[in-house]
Amino acid sequence: MKRTMIAILLLTALLLSACGAQHVHTWKNATCTEPETCEECGETRGKELGHRWQAGSCTEPEVCSRCGETRGEPLGHDWQPATCTQPETCSRCGETRGEPLGHDWTEATCTEPQICKRCGETHGEALGHDAVPADYWTPSVCSRCGEEVAPVLTPDFVTYGLDKQIIGLNKTVDYKTLCYDDPSYSTVGRLTFVSYEVTPGDGKDLEIRDGYEWRILKLEVSFSDANANDYGVSVAFSTEDYYDIRRHDDTLVYEDDGSDTFDVVYKGETYRCQLWLEGGFSDWVGDTTTYSCTVSAQLPVGYDGMIFGMRDKGINWPDDAYVFETDTTGSVYFRMN
Ligand SMILES: [Zn+2]
Ligand SMILES: [Zn+2]
Ligand SMILES: [Zn+2]
Ligand SMILES: [Zn+2]
Ligand SMILES: [Zn+2]
Repeated sequence: MKRTMIAILLLTALLLSACGAQHVHTWKNATCTEPETCEECGETRGKELGHRWQAGSCTEPEVCSRCGETRGEPLGHDWQPATCTQPETCSRCGETRGEPLGHDWTEATCTEPQICKRCGETHGEALGHDAVPADYWTPSVCSRCGEEVAPVLTPDFVTYGLDKQIIGLNKTVDYKTLCYDDPSYSTVGRLTFVSYEVTPGDGKDLEIRDGYEWRILKLEVSFSDANANDYGVSVAFSTEDYYDIRRHDDTLVYEDDGSDTFDVVYKGETYRCQLWLEGGFSDWVGDTTTYSCTVSAQLPVGYDGMIFGMRDKGINWPDDAYVFETDTTGSVYFRMN
């Protein structure tokens, strides 16, 4: 009996296995690496899905968005060098490390503000030149950078073209002026500057004064034409400053003692100067009379801008006019230089 039971069970098992092909598969979803697979029998269908790789980043390798598997290595940061204002920065993800370098400033100069040697950014303002104004002898030069900021000033006698009428010693030229007795007539004399000297003074007629010296000019004009003989001669003068005509005139005082006083500005300093004029006509010798005159000017040592001139008495010269506003055509000048 027992043996019969075993035989039946075996038969049953054989029958079951024979109909196995007919079971309903229970499909498990495909994965990245496995196709659909029957949980019961292990049969597969279709294909595995394959990984769905997502690009790596600086800090993460490629990763499958489905299964999370990774491959390869993170890219690592792509560090860009630090700049003045930015720390090292990854060109890919923007992460930073360290600190900005900070600007590397140059010193400001007269003409440039502070400038960063690295990035060219500027800061603040240029200093500007540090220079005293030019005068007639010295250009304006910056004490910091040595640049010439302005050239020497142009002397007024050059500006107004009067320098062409300056003559030297012992050169004889015509000098036209009015007759004394009848100003409707004029006469032409012969003018010569006959001597010129520079002296510190003698302590008598020529005062000795610290910082000053005397410049002494002698001139002669001889008149012998018919008008001079008939109507006499009248002369006129012009004392000027070669460099600064206005300053001379604006500071000029006719003193009670007969001198002129006036300011001279020489190399930045103002000097009160004086000028004496002594002159007169000689007696007639034949048909000739000679006007002689000595001009003594006390001026700063080294000053080369005093001008003495003879002018046509017939030229209209209003009291407040400067020489360049008058007709100077017939004037003759000597520069005490
Ligand atoms: Zn199955
Ligand atoms: Zn995967
Ligand atoms: Zn990065
Ligand atoms: Zn910079
Ligand atoms: Zn400068």
